Amino acid sequence: MLIILIGSVFAYIYYLKEKKEQLDAIKRGFCPKCHQKSIELTDQRSGGCSGPKILSFECMECGYANSFSVQGGGGCGI
Ligand SMILES: [Zn+2]
Repeated sequence: MLIILIGSVFAYIYYLKEKKEQLDAIKRGFCPKCHQKSIELTDQRSGGCSGPKILSFECMECGYANSFSVQGGGGCGI
């Protein structure tokens, strides 16, 4: 039981780490899968002034698609 719990925690940490690396690549304008500069923002949703933004990206080259929740630091800009 404990082994399963630890295993799932590590899997979750690995998942978050991988997701962060993918987002870092996208922020630099690269597709994390094929490393071409063909990544595009396809959708952007805001969860309110203080909530995280959901950004959806898609690669025009290989079809990679993923969405990320990003903490909106600026609030509503007021
Ligand atoms: Zn790609």
